[in-house]
Amino acid sequence: MSKTHHVGQLSINTTNILPIIKKWLYSDHDIFIRELVSNAFDAITKRTKLATLESDVSFDETPQIHIRIDKKKKTLTISDNGIGMTREDVEKYITQIAFSGAQDFVDTYEKGANNAGIIGHFGLGFYSAFMVASTVEIQTLSCRKDAQPVYWRCDGDTEYTLDNGTRQTVGTDIILTIDTENKDFLDASKIESLVKKYANFLPISILLDDKEESITYGQPLWDKAPQDVTEEAYTSFYKTVFPFANEPLFWIHLNVDYPFNLKGIIYFPKIMHELDTSKSRIQLYCQNVFVSDNVNNILPEFLTLLQGAIDCPDLPLNVSRSQLQNDPYVQKIANHIVKKVGDELAKRFKKSFDQFQTDWKDIHPFIKYGMMNNDTFFKKTEKIVLLSQSNNTMVVLADHVDVAKADHKGKIVYAQSRDQVVAHKAFFEEKNIPVFILDAVIDHHFIQFMESKWDGISFLSVDNAINEFGGSDVQEIVDADTNKTPSEVLPDIFKNALNNDAITFEAKPMAVSSPAVMVEDEMMKRFAQMSQFMQRGGSAFPKKFTCLLNSQSPILKRIIALHKAGKTDAVSVMCHHVVDLAQLSNQPLEGSQLESFLNRSFDLLTRSME
Ligand code: ADP
Repeated sequence: MSKTHHVGQLSINTTNILPIIKKWLYSDHDIFIRELVSNAFDAITKRTKLATLESDVSFDETPQIHIRIDKKKKTLTISDNGIGMTREDVEKYITQIAFSGAQDFVDTYEKGANNAGIIGHFGLGFYSAFMVASTVEIQTLSCRKDAQPVYWRCDGDTEYTLDNGTRQTVGTDIILTIDTENKDFLDASKIESLVKKYANFLPISILLDDKEESITYGQPLWDKAPQDVTEEAYTSFYKTVFPFANEPLFWIHLNVDYPFNLKGIIYFPKIMHELDTSKSRIQLYCQNVFVSDNVNNILPEFLTLLQGAIDCPDLPLNVSRSQLQNDPYVQKIANHIVKKVGDELAKRFKKSFDQFQTDWKDIHPFIKYGMMNNDTFFKKTEKIVLLSQSNNTMVVLADHVDVAKADHKGKIVYAQSRDQVVAHKAFFEEKNIPVFILDAVIDHHFIQFMESKWDGISFLSVDNAINEFGGSDVQEIVDADTNKTPSEVLPDIFKNALNNDAITFEAKPMAVSSPAVMVEDEMMKRFAQMSQFMQRGGSAFPKKFTCLLNSQSPILKRIIALHKAGKTDAVSVMCHHVVDLAQLSNQPLEGSQLESFLNRSFDLLTRSME
């Protein structure tokens, strides 16, 4: 044994931490790549820094990380031409688990500043190698003057070996002998995809085996100043990060230095009709190293519908994810992003209303969802919400509210489909009441929400609006025989003819052309929709309607006459038909109601030919 050979004990408190590392981290073995590549990158950053500070340290080669696989020897080697380690460094930084050499370096050379571009703080570090390796060796040569190469080896227990090394050039090789359970880490394509996943945006070349070009993308777009980036570059970067996505609608480039460090690009994807927050769409990076594609505890949920990447070196990554949510720092960052997204939307609204109208179709569920979930976002966007009119023009909700308050008792009329407006188009046009189409899944939640936020307004469905605004002050004629007005006799005639408890009949003179309108109580309607939505389509709710009879309608006058003449059968046929038609202008008929409607129609046609 040479006098430089040394066998030591890893300085840790527990008897043997390595089996624990293996077991605990079982589910995510991949991250050893992140740790070792980050260490290699740190080592290169340190050497670059030292070369500028100390005259006896130089760095003339191209900085690079080289990964090699030797299937025969079952080794995976990660080499860098970074700072390297002396024997003392190895003893201090490698053998004393939990003593972060990264922090030490920053403290010495940056006088407490934390912005040296050194990553080493993911918490697992170098020892994560033991998740996949039975033996880990280091061959390293420090960039310090007169340094000697050093060799270190550990077989996964608390003993290690330290000896003279063989490395000729400055830098470090980390050699992992991959254990049998993890032999897929000897597969080049697997390693390539992992390096791309974690280290795609490290601004350095990463070579794999004898490939001559870097397998990674390099400096990410979010690192550049926004004014230096072209539209094409943003779009093509989007395609790099989200290879299967469509073109983005637009994006926000985040670039903050103070009071925290935050960079990133957030893209608005084209179609956001389906609000599926379970898909992860914003990736989290820490100094260009991929951390997670689950930002759920960091950003408010609605933002996770967007796509992109944020790089936030100041996030406390070593605390548990549930703690993150309550961290005031994280909240500050999240709030900043929310504001930025809101500001960008407001900016686009101001810049071009035409373009904003076009984009609205894609982004409105996101905006509505965001407003309902985040008050900061609500305040930023409440003035830019658009409503689509039945004639296809768009108006700004906030502007329309003033009109509604002045002219329509604060009522905003909506339909859930264009078809619901068809039968009453002339009426609403005549009254100059716009009808808005609210046909998205989120809309019935949204109108409820807006009513709670804004005083003095409420949304009213087409049928209820006819009830509210459709009355006529025509004087009704009292029948000399019965001493009753048409409005007084009609409900009973219909009630007897229909014999259906789900429908209540009311009659009054109305300014509409149709004989009857089916009205569903606004609150009941919304409640039924909500419960239908919760049960994903199952209609568990018995519906109750008021059938509003227009006593001015010639058809109904005819029914009264037939009733007086005792033509019970004809009255029944006509009442049923009037009710079906009223129903039909709201929604399609179904089942037995459709069947009897069709049969009655054929029958009426046949009779009209006689
Ligand atoms: P951290 O990176 O958080 O400091 P690690 O356990 O990953 O923790 O690494 C411990 C220390 O070992 C590093 O800070 C660094 O000083 C040293 N080290 C690890 N890998 C390398 C390397 N490739 N080149 C030079 N030094 C390294």
